[in-house]
Amino acid sequence: MRAIVIHEARDLRIEERDVTPPGPGKVQIRLATGGICGSDLHYYNHGGFGPVRLKQPMILGHEVSGFVEEVGDGVTGLAPGDLVAVSPSRPCGVCRYCLEGRANHCEAMRFYGSAMPFPHIQGAFREVLVADAAQCVKADGLTPGEAAMAEPLSVCLHATRRAGELLGKRVLITGAGPIGTLSILAARAAGAAEIVTTDLSDPALAYAAKAGADRTINIGSEPDALAEYQAGKGTFDVLYECSGAAPALAGGLAALRPRGICIQLGLGGDMTIPMQMLTAKEIDLRGSFRFHEEFAVAVALMQRGTIDTAPLISHSMPLDNAVEAFEIASDRSRSMKAQIVFSEAA
Ligand code: NAD
Ligand code: ZN
Repeated sequence: MRAIVIHEARDLRIEERDVTPPGPGKVQIRLATGGICGSDLHYYNHGGFGPVRLKQPMILGHEVSGFVEEVGDGVTGLAPGDLVAVSPSRPCGVCRYCLEGRANHCEAMRFYGSAMPFPHIQGAFREVLVADAAQCVKADGLTPGEAAMAEPLSVCLHATRRAGELLGKRVLITGAGPIGTLSILAARAAGAAEIVTTDLSDPALAYAAKAGADRTINIGSEPDALAEYQAGKGTFDVLYECSGAAPALAGGLAALRPRGICIQLGLGGDMTIPMQMLTAKEIDLRGSFRFHEEFAVAVALMQRGTIDTAPLISHSMPLDNAVEAFEIASDRSRSMKAQIVFSEAA
């Protein structure tokens, strides 16, 4: 079977890998769809991010769905032909954070396609994937492309949980990439009354509008547009910071009302924080990192039609065109979520 392997920056290859049969509790999946995420793009464009560097070839990918081909001994509830969304979150289950129910903080997390540990954790962009049955959520009623959106949506559901009660709240979202745009859908589903979204890119903001933002602001061409929200100590109850850019955080915090909550999703490396404003307005700054149990919730919300991710899938490209798909995914003016199609049907 073929897999998408990154060797170093800009050296992406389609290579043959062996298939091992599914052992007890495991499921063999014929991959259908793989969404390209920002971290895959960091490996592709830069060979890593911050101190995390590729030290050996690594299969990329962690936003995947596929069709069950075979189940190992002891697997119940899954059968050949089932469409499943596969969670890349593989906590150990026994460390203190797993036992506390905070699996996203697992000390031995084996998240697909990560060069953080060495040897690297190989990813899921492969024609045949053997996964734990516990990672698989049945996704009947969804397209394989929608099922592969469960992963980034889970990130935004976890952030929404970190934000607390959203019913009737005014929300600002900075950054309208896939994470910001899916956060619009998550915040709306949680009852947000008003959602304003900023970005530097008009095409990205067009997707934000499609996702239901009440107002979109190009903060590049309208740098003063947040001023009306920053007046009188601020307007918004909650900020989802989804750009990882320090100016977005500073402008967003200024637009938060006293006792507002900032959820920091963007991974900006060395962002600076206006501490004085945090103190004086008694703002809660909360990080949000990955997800775990939200994955099944993401699938269920899409199945019920509460959240529709389909409009955000801008490209579906065959495995043979993987390099082109990574190029398109790297260009925000052309794409929102680019996905690779590994196979068409069960
Ligand atoms: P992305 O790069 O596609 O989107 C970021 C967007 O922010 C871009 O559209 C960019 O134009 C915009 N932007 C840049 N500067 C801005 C500014 N000053 N004001 C407003 N917008 C600005 O990334 P993504 O895939 O949507 O992910 C968003 C961030 O979340 C990234 O930093 C990513 O690493 C991070 N992330 C975090 C988690 C987590 O668990 N915390 C999970 C996935 C991704
Ligand atoms: Zn653990």
